[in-house]
Amino acid sequence: MEIRDNKPVAIAIDGPSGAGKSTIARILASELGCLYVDTGALYRTVGYAALCRGIDVKSVTEVEPMLREITVELRHQNGVQRVWLNGEDVSDRIRTPEVSMAASAVSALPPVRQFLFHLQQDTARRQSVIMDGRDIGTVVLPFADVKIFLTASAEDRAQRRYLELQEKGVDTSYDEVLRDMKERDHNDATRAAAPLKAADDAILVDTSGNTLEQSVALLKEIILNALGV
Ligand code: C5P
Repeated sequence: MEIRDNKPVAIAIDGPSGAGKSTIARILASELGCLYVDTGALYRTVGYAALCRGIDVKSVTEVEPMLREITVELRHQNGVQRVWLNGEDVSDRIRTPEVSMAASAVSALPPVRQFLFHLQQDTARRQSVIMDGRDIGTVVLPFADVKIFLTASAEDRAQRRYLELQEKGVDTSYDEVLRDMKERDHNDATRAAAPLKAADDAILVDTSGNTLEQSVALLKEIILNALGV
């Protein structure tokens, strides 16, 4: 994607877990020539760091001091995002149900959101990005050129996440995934710090019942229209 008016293009995709944000955003980024940034991986990394230290992921007094002892970096290799914790690539270790719940817990803590804010904003200042998360259009990139709020029914989202986990060989059941998803939805939407909600100027898209191809085509059309391309 070309730089517009001497500014990189910023596309924000927010929404609850399992709506297909990361899969769709990854494909669109490669089609549109932007960098794909998965911000959930950053919260997962902080959650993982806390689990490794045996820290209570809900306790701000335990998690905040840890933030001074860790470094979190995003590195992109051939367009694929990897996340590094204290100089070690932890990208594969952060994809377990346990880390999902820890990410959801630490993401409710304001010092954690503050800790990751600049990393996310600086990444978008340097190059054109499609960034997915929960508060990208509302907090991290309020100046984004296009904001999309992607959602789908909880059952649809749980089914997708369950299949993804099965492919990765993670041992879990659909009911467990649905229950975790509802709990995470509730945590994310009701927390005081940057709750999950659509930006006033976001375009709402519901992917329930869509195939991946349909959702990708729909979002591409919306983005190109919004950019006036
Ligand atoms: O997107 P993913 O499921 O990997 O995100 C893990 C958790 O990180 C979410 O449940 C949410 O609590 C948190 N998160 C967030 N803000 C973001 C991205 C993720 O609070 N921008």
